[in-house]
Amino acid sequence: MPKRFESTNPHTGDLIETLAPMTAAALEQALAAAADQAPAWAKQGISERCDLLRAVAKLLRERKSALARLMTLEMGKLIAEAEAEVEKCALVCDYYADNAESQLADTSVASDASRSLIAYQPLGVLMAIMPWNFPFWQVFRCAAPALAAGNTLVLKHASNVPRCALTMEALFRDAGAPPDVFQTLLIDAKTAEGVVADARIRGVSLTGSETAGRRVASIAGEHLKKTVLELGGSDAFVVLEDADLELAVSTAVKARFMNAGQSCIAAKRFILVETIADGFVDAFKAAIAALNPGDPLEETTTLAPLARKDLREILHAQVEASLGAGAALVTGGQALDGPGWHYAATLLDKVAPGMPAYADELFGPVASVIRAKNADAALEIANDSRFGLGGSVWTADKARGEGFARQMACGCAFVNGMVKSDPRLPFGGIKDSGYGRELGTPGIHEFVNAKTLWIG
Ligand code: NAP
Repeated sequence: MPKRFESTNPHTGDLIETLAPMTAAALEQALAAAADQAPAWAKQGISERCDLLRAVAKLLRERKSALARLMTLEMGKLIAEAEAEVEKCALVCDYYADNAESQLADTSVASDASRSLIAYQPLGVLMAIMPWNFPFWQVFRCAAPALAAGNTLVLKHASNVPRCALTMEALFRDAGAPPDVFQTLLIDAKTAEGVVADARIRGVSLTGSETAGRRVASIAGEHLKKTVLELGGSDAFVVLEDADLELAVSTAVKARFMNAGQSCIAAKRFILVETIADGFVDAFKAAIAALNPGDPLEETTTLAPLARKDLREILHAQVEASLGAGAALVTGGQALDGPGWHYAATLLDKVAPGMPAYADELFGPVASVIRAKNADAALEIANDSRFGLGGSVWTADKARGEGFARQMACGCAFVNGMVKSDPRLPFGGIKDSGYGRELGTPGIHEFVNAKTLWIG
C-alpha cells in the first residue's frame, strides 16, 4: 500500500496536510490521457505552444506571493529566495517562448540530396522526476522546453512537496494548457519505477540523488528510452592568492548557505591556496556568524531550516564522521535547539581525503575548507571528486582564471562568480553528477527527434 504524502513545515515540524496517493486506476487514466493528448499537442503550431508559456509566466508573476509562501511552508526556503524562484520560473518560460521557434527551426545541411535537413520533432510523453530543493524551478526548467518542443509531460515530484506539485498542475490548467499536457502524478518512488518502464513514456528527466539516478537510468536503459540526469555535486570554490578576498568571502557565504546549503551547485569545497587561507577562514567565520537562523517567512531570517528531519540527521552524521577523521570545527557543528529542522551554519577546516566532507556531497549549511600549496595543487584537489557539476575560481587575473576554469572537470565553471543556472546557458554535469543538459539550446534539443530528411 503506497504511503500517504505528508506536507510538513520544516520550521516548526508541524504537519500541514496529508494527501492520498493516486489510485492505480487514476494513474492509468493519467498516462492514457497524456499519450492521447501528445499528437494533438505536437501538431499545434509552435507559436501557440509558446503562447501557453507566456500565459504561464504571466500567472506565475501574478501569483508570486502565494506561490512563494507555499514553497516556504512546504520545504522551508527563505521567503525572498522563494519569490526569486518564482520570478526565475517566469523567466525560463519567457526565454523558451522567445527562442524555441528558432531553436527548433529546420537546419539545412548540404549533402548528395537535392535538399537535406534536420527537423526537430517531439518524442511524445516525457516523465519528469524532480527533487524538493527548488520545488518550482527544477520542474519549470524541464517543463518549459519540453512543452515548447511539443511533448506532453507527467511530473513525479518529491514526496515532501505534494502541494507544490498539485499547484503547478493547476497553474498550467489556469493558464489555458489543453487538458493533460502537464499532469502531476501523486505516486511514490516504487510506483514511479513502473511509470519509467511504461511504453507510453518516451523519455525521462531526473533531478535528484545519485542513487535515484542510477536506479531510474537502469530501468530506462532496459526499456531503451532516453534519460537526462541532473544529480548531486560537490562544487569546488577555489581561491587563488591574487583574488579579491572581500568579494570571494561575501560570495562564498551566499554560494554555500543559500537555501540552507541544499543546492546541487552550492559551493561545497572551499579550496584555498596557503598564502590567503588563514585570512579567508577568519573572514568567512565572521560572515557565517552573522547569519540569522529562524522562521523563513520572516524577512530578517538569513538561514533557513533543512527540509526534512532525516536530511538533518544524515548531514550531522557526515559532520561527526569528518571531525572524527581529523577535520577542525571552526564554528557550528550541531542541530539548533527548538522545533523544526534547523542546523547551525558550520565551517570545517583542515578537510582532507578520506572524510565525507572531502569526498561526499554535504547537502546542508556546512562549508569545508581544504588548503592547497599553490594553484596547481588547488586544481588537482578541485578535480579529485567523483562529482563534476559546477565550480568556480577566484583571481584578479581573468585570463589565468579562464585557463584554470577550462581545466576544471565539471559541466559549468565560473571565474569570479557564483555558480548559477541561467535559462540562456546550458546546465548539467559530468562524472557522477549525471549527463545531458538542461536550459539554453542544448536543453530543448535533449527530448526531440533530430530527424534527417533527405530529398532526392
Ligand atoms: P532523491 O531522494 O533522489 O529524490 C529525487 C526524486 O527522485 C524524488 O521525486 C524521489 O521521489 C524520486 N526517486 C527516488 N528514488 C526513485 C526511484 N527509485 N524511482 C523513481 N523515482 C525515484 O533526491 P532529493 O533528496 O529529493 O534531492 C537532493 C539531491 O538532488 C541532491 O543530491 C542534489 O544534489 C540533487 N540535485 C541535483 C540537481 C542538479 O541539477 N544536478 C538539482 C537539484 C538537486 P520520493 O521523494 O518519493 O523519494
